[in-house]
Amino acid sequence: MLGLMQSQPLLISGLIEFAERHHGDAEIVSRRVEGDIHRYTYKASAKRARQLANALDGLNLAFSDRVATLAWNGYRHFELYYGVSGSGRVLHTVNPRLHPDQIAWIANHAEDQVLCFDMSFLPLVQAVHAKCHTIKHFVALCDEDKLPTDSGIPNLISYEALINAQTDDYVWPSFDENTASSMCYTSGTTGNPKAALYSHRSSTLHAFAAALPDVMCISARDAILPVVPMFHVNAWGIPYSAALTGAKLVFPGPAMDGKSIYELIESEKVTYAAGVPTVWQMLLGHLKPAGLKFSTLRRTVIGGSACPPAMIRAFKDDYGIEVLHAWGMTEMSPLGTLCTLKNKHDALSEEERMAILLKQGRSIYGVDMKIVGDNGSELPWDGKTYGDLYVKGPWVVHDYYKSEGQSPLVDGWFPTGDVGTIDADGYLQITDRSKDVIKSGGEWISSIDIENIAVAHPAVAMAACIGVVHPKWDERPIVAVLVRPGMQVTREELLSFYEGKTAKWQIPDDVVFVDAIPLGATGKILKTKLREMLKDYKLPSA
Ligand code: ADP
Repeated sequence: MLGLMQSQPLLISGLIEFAERHHGDAEIVSRRVEGDIHRYTYKASAKRARQLANALDGLNLAFSDRVATLAWNGYRHFELYYGVSGSGRVLHTVNPRLHPDQIAWIANHAEDQVLCFDMSFLPLVQAVHAKCHTIKHFVALCDEDKLPTDSGIPNLISYEALINAQTDDYVWPSFDENTASSMCYTSGTTGNPKAALYSHRSSTLHAFAAALPDVMCISARDAILPVVPMFHVNAWGIPYSAALTGAKLVFPGPAMDGKSIYELIESEKVTYAAGVPTVWQMLLGHLKPAGLKFSTLRRTVIGGSACPPAMIRAFKDDYGIEVLHAWGMTEMSPLGTLCTLKNKHDALSEEERMAILLKQGRSIYGVDMKIVGDNGSELPWDGKTYGDLYVKGPWVVHDYYKSEGQSPLVDGWFPTGDVGTIDADGYLQITDRSKDVIKSGGEWISSIDIENIAVAHPAVAMAACIGVVHPKWDERPIVAVLVRPGMQVTREELLSFYEGKTAKWQIPDDVVFVDAIPLGATGKILKTKLREMLKDYKLPSA
């Protein structure tokens, strides 16, 4: 017997329709590439998304055709999220920090038909357009009078001209909720990038879950600043969860430095922000010397790489801001775990609660996880035993785009490539990427632990730990350190700083001072590059 309830496909257009009808006057504020501030409402945004949908019909795009973007977080990008997916096409957000050859490679692989780009990326598009063989339409995300006349890009049109030629008379089509809605390529630190192809169903379910109180806790009372880019994994789904709840959205555009972010938080009364640790490092670096405080910010979600305990403490102790540590990946839309306490933790001391909050968190309903050993058998949830982390759920990939039947799944589970522990309460702690684990004398050393201790030293701006071949122990850890401008620390001081904070045999063998730590396209430490930089390095103990 089937239930007798209405059946409606879960479609991305439903989110913007809801926001328009029930939160029509909630604001969307953007810092534009031009530097000025643009502000309008969900109602105005929904109208323009429908004009865009009409324009895409006018370009004769077929159902499921790919529309690529090279754009910062801003209102036009937000309209593309809805106009493209809502009309049945697939939004392909391209990470502009990738190498130009890689951008051309993924545009061809995705068979993009249209490329919409912010004017900051004009030189990039000029460099790659001739290599992108499927793109028929280039759209500059700017006013008509800002369109360059001599760009060399064929048929370049301004976004405003494209949509202003259309009415907003458009009915969002209904179709199978499993239809592809958007796609995102992984950074491809090993081999060619691979694409996760999200569906309307997976994105809507993810948006629901992300908004839950124990997850990102997004509500109509919030003003949210996603610093996490809309060009990578849909800005953690915030553009969808915000529409679902009617939260005010504040987009930073290209200005991601500490000063600009701080000014936007204050002027727009932001209550909530989300981003990777490197961004918050810059923000804290701006606040501290100037003695600045936040007046409205209450929470921040930090994820994408391990959030150092020193950062969680600084936000809490110096600014009274709650940090929610999150873990996820492109293949998971991206949220997997978030760290919030349970009712029973109220009885714990401050220190004990902090020890839990430093972990990556517990599963969200919709994501199941397990850790497995070398023989593939499940390992205990004791908070000590390390294993390879596997996940499954309705917003986890089962195949990569064009993977030609080579599913990454193992018995229905997706191997994340991360290594971690799970404790008896289900809290995950990531200790490493499996390829970054340091194996010393048969024991594992967590590079994340070593880095976290180093960045707790006041003179250290950034630290990256790698393993170096050792004749006796196989591998020993060394830590590459970037010192804060104007500060000093010696090798000996830093090594003694480790004493008492970790087991003796886990203390790095050496400190290498560097001028810069290589970061990848999503702001994460690029260990492959660091290993390459240090390829001639010899351990003092070897
Ligand atoms: P890519 O770097 O290929 O673009 P993702 O952006 O999908 O990939 O990053 C996913 C990976 O980032 C995870 O598998 C994990 O290694 C790392 N990561 C994400 N969040 C955290 C976190 N809170 N702590 C530690 N590692 C994290």
